[in-house]
Order: sequence, then C-alpha cells, then structure tokens
Amino acid sequence: SKAKLFDEKSDTKTSFKDVAGLEGAKEEVQEIVDFLKFPEKYTALGGKIPKGALLVGPPGTGKTLLAKAVAGEAQVPFFSLSGSDFVEMFVGVGASRVRDLFKQAKEKSPSIIFIDEIDAIGRARGKNNMSGSNDERENTLNQLLTEMDGFGTNTNVIVLAATNRADVLDSALMRAGRFDRQIYVDLPDVRERKEIFEVHLRPLKKEETLDIDFLAKQTPGFSGADIANVCNEAALIAARKGKKAVNKQDFLDAVDRIIGGLEKKNKIIT
Ligand code: ATP
Repeated sequence: SKAKLFDEKSDTKTSFKDVAGLEGAKEEVQEIVDFLKFPEKYTALGGKIPKGALLVGPPGTGKTLLAKAVAGEAQVPFFSLSGSDFVEMFVGVGASRVRDLFKQAKEKSPSIIFIDEIDAIGRARGKNNMSGSNDERENTLNQLLTEMDGFGTNTNVIVLAATNRADVLDSALMRAGRFDRQIYVDLPDVRERKEIFEVHLRPLKKEETLDIDFLAKQTPGFSGADIANVCNEAALIAARKGKKAVNKQDFLDAVDRIIGGLEKKNKIIT
C-alpha cells in the first residue's frame, strides 16, 4: 500500500539539537531550512533555489536524522522513501510511486522529500545490465529525474537523498538543477563522539561520576548509530543486574558487545 512505501510524518519534533557534531553539515543544511522558510528572500534577485542535495557518508552517521531535523527546523512536512523499497517491485510501479510522492509533496509544499539509499535506484545506467532486469530500476530513476526537472522555481519542495556510495551514482543525478550539492556526513571524531554520547545519555539514569570523555576515547570508529546502541545496551545490562544506575563497567560491556557484533557483521560480508 501507499502508506507502506512512504510516510509523511510532519516530523516537527526533530531539531538540530538532536544532531550532535556534524557542524559543517548542519551549517550547510541551515541554508536549506532558510530556503524553505523564506523563499522570497532568495528569489528576489532572480536566483533559483536548489532542488536537491545529496547527503554522503558511512552508515549510521545521522543522514536520516539530519534530513528530519531540516524538516523540523523549517516546520514543514517530511516525505520519505527508501531506494531499497524499489528493488523487488513490479514493472511500472516504481515510477508511479515516485510520481505520487512528488505530487503529494507539491500539494503540501513547502516540504521535504527524503530518499534514503538512493544508490539502489540511482546507480549508473547501462552498467551490470547483463540480465536486463534493471529496466524497472531505470524507469524509476528516469521518473525521479523527470520530476526534479519538472519543478518550477517556486515549487519549494527540496529533495534530500542519502547514500554511502556517491561514486556509483548516475552522473545525471548530479547535474545542475538536480542533486547539485553534496554534503558530507562523516564518522565522528573523539570530540563529536562525546557530544553524541551526551545526547544519548540524556534519558539514562547513570552514575554521576561517569566519565564521558573516557567513553568517547573507548569508541574510535563508532558511528552515531553505534553510540546510540551502546547507551541503550548499557542501560539493559545494568537493569539485568538489578542496578539503580548505569555505570562505567556497563558501558564497557556494551562497547565489547557492539564491537563483537560489528566483527561478526564484517565476517559475513567478507
Ligand atoms: P544509514 O546510512 O544506515 O541509513 P544514517 O546515516 O541515515 O544511516 P541515521 O539513521 O540518521 O543514520 O542514524 C541512526 C540513529 O543513530 C539516529 O536515529 C540516532 O539515534 C543515532 N545518531 C546517528 N548520528 C547521530 C548524531 N550525529 N547525533 C546524534 N545521534 C546520532
């Protein structure tokens, strides 16, 4: 059903406060918030508001979170779909879903469309097409390009898309007037990990002496999603032991468990 594929959540709750670190990316998307809120300010001198931006970075670094925060900050509806939803779709359905999504977003404009895993539909055309089974994907991609080209200058719908493989994308997507801006969302450094811990420690009952710098130092290579996981896991570990507050050892146990999980995942892939 329609509702399954994309959900419009007027996600006015998520704000930049929920996004830790990512200062550069937040600065860049702040401009998009401004375009949505005060379009006339930008079109007054004849300039065209960008139609799309690509959020590029490893899994779990906060791309979806950032896109939701843009909608929340601008107080506009958020329409989303994931490229992977299109993989097993019948012929013609993908393109019509894209058409539908844009129609709804235009009706509710100003609004945000978010396309997660755009690489699933946006891989370069004409490659790895031995089986001919990519026709449906190409139709979907072509529809997406058509929709973006069809936007008037005053449509005021901005399309954000996320990928961790910008290198495989069809160059047509990056052409002027489409996803002509790329915003990098990298893994957090130690200072940013501390900020992410602070966000995800907020709802936890923890020992007052807990050293957040220490936790940040113990988690090199962790994404924001991994850190959110550590915090939740630590709370569950402490609860299982019947504790009243989460302590340092619970976090270390949680870190070990997450590292174990990551290693297993990598083993399966390679
Ligand atoms: P994917 O590429 O796997 O779709 P993503 O980059 O879209 O991942 P999100 O889905 O936004 O990542 O992140 C997952 C969760 O991890 C978020 O809901 C949030 O709880 C946490 N998280 C990730 N990055 C951050 C961050 N910078 N600040 C706070 N929380 C974060």
